[in-house]
Amino acid sequence: MTQHYDLAIIGSGSGNSLVTPDFDDKRVAIIEGGTFGGTCLNVGCIPTKMFVHAADLALDVRQAGRYGVDAALQGVRWSDVRDRVFGRIDPISEGGRRYRVEGPNTTAFFGHAHFTGDRTLTVELGDGSQETVTADQVVVAAGAHPVVPDVVTESGLPFHTSDTVMRIEALPERLAIIGGGFIAAEMAHVFASFGVHVTVIARSSLLLRHLDTEIAQRFTDLAREQWDVRTLTNVVALEPGDDGAGVRLHLDNTAVVDADLLLVATGRRPNSAGLGAQAAGLGLLDDGRIAVDEYGRTSAPGVWALGDVSAPHQLKHLANAEARTIAHNLVHPADLRPLPHRHVPSGVFSHPQVATVGLTEQECIEQGRHHTVHVQAYGDTAYGWAMEDTTSVCKLVADPSTGLLLGAHLMGPLATSLIQPLVQGMAFGTTVHDLARGQYWIHPALAEVVENALLGLKLDAPA
Ligand SMILES: Cc1cc2nc3c(=O)[nH]c(=O)nc-3n(C[C@H](O)[C@H](O)[C@H](O)COP(=O)(O)OP(=O)(O)OC[C@H]3O[C@@H](n4cnc5c(N)ncnc54)[C@H](O)[C@@H]3O)c2cc1C
Repeated sequence: MTQHYDLAIIGSGSGNSLVTPDFDDKRVAIIEGGTFGGTCLNVGCIPTKMFVHAADLALDVRQAGRYGVDAALQGVRWSDVRDRVFGRIDPISEGGRRYRVEGPNTTAFFGHAHFTGDRTLTVELGDGSQETVTADQVVVAAGAHPVVPDVVTESGLPFHTSDTVMRIEALPERLAIIGGGFIAAEMAHVFASFGVHVTVIARSSLLLRHLDTEIAQRFTDLAREQWDVRTLTNVVALEPGDDGAGVRLHLDNTAVVDADLLLVATGRRPNSAGLGAQAAGLGLLDDGRIAVDEYGRTSAPGVWALGDVSAPHQLKHLANAEARTIAHNLVHPADLRPLPHRHVPSGVFSHPQVATVGLTEQECIEQGRHHTVHVQAYGDTAYGWAMEDTTSVCKLVADPSTGLLLGAHLMGPLATSLIQPLVQGMAFGTTVHDLARGQYWIHPALAEVVENALLGLKLDAPA
């Protein structure tokens, strides 16, 4: 049976927010092949940060002694930590699903969708039946999925990805993580803080290698103090652990790593395979992303794409911002807005936290840009003294002739919050001088590290 809609949306993550009041008098189909609400809510940003908060607390207790406060971590009740997280999240997902099922102008389809022609979709429903959906406009908001290296899948041994590891029954004694990106860094922090022995195996020489090199180097150094970090290392084979349980990883330097649980965190690939891109006339980029123009239009007329399936960065705030833009563009064809891709910040909620926006120092060098750099230690501010901080930094990159910030890179406590005035300064074109001196900075708050970093930049002339 074929049903026609004004709008069909593939994916209920950021795609779910496309159903604005502009569609109140229109017919909208929303198609979800996995868990309603998508990655961020169910297996991404939100649950990970709820675990990270508990991990931060556990670590604070362990480290309280250096402030003269003697405390001992009596234990971590994993099942209570886990159930607090999913006890909150699962009902939200279920509520969202129900809302779309019962919504006055939305029809929810639960199954995998693929294009069979121009704005024509086949949905494979859970009961084995199929539904054909056609629409005046289609938005592909299908997200991405974890990549698992062949060496792992071909071993036939059990492994986890971020999709499953947060729901395990009990904490393992030893966790091996393959990957050196932000998911590996956040999961290593969570499990190590809960008392698990964590080994991180990364192909590159630095963890978080996409960051400013100085920050990635500092992060990797601190990671080595907390976890067993093997860089420049590949896993070449897997076999069952000694006692038949767990896994033994063979590395290309002939070393072995024994673990009770394996987490694969080697990146996420856009969910464009299996979408019927060819039948729809969707162009794909080499990395599997759906190609879109500056307004979010794909190469197929009337088909749009947003979020991880097409965006240059896999970030929820970017997917949300793209969804807001496309929600406007869908109903204002004569007044299209460009996707907001400037000054996109990102955070890593590990230990330490990292936050970044704009150009790195190396990018400035590679692009031959006139630039100046200042690195300010948290430990040179009063609140840094309070925290006994000796490792955290705020590194700024600016254009000395215009006095404008080009990039900001923070590593340390609250980095993901401290960076916000810098993001704001870049977004609104505020000069370094105006950012530092055009407002008060509460004394002796940690934000003084940002103020001092701004004041430390050597500009050509006061802007
Ligand atoms: C562990 C982890 C932690 C993260 N932490 C952060 C963070 O702290 N901050 C941050 O900004 N970002 C974070 N992210 C990234 C963030 O979650 C994603 O960028 C964001 O959720 C992408 O949203 P989306 O709408 O593009 O896709 P999704 O939310 O993934 O939604 C896509 C939906 O489409 C469905 N779907 C796919 N194909 C089909 C099909 N053919 N038919 C029907 N349905 C389909 C999927 O089941 C899914 O529900 C994290 C990701 C992970 C994995």
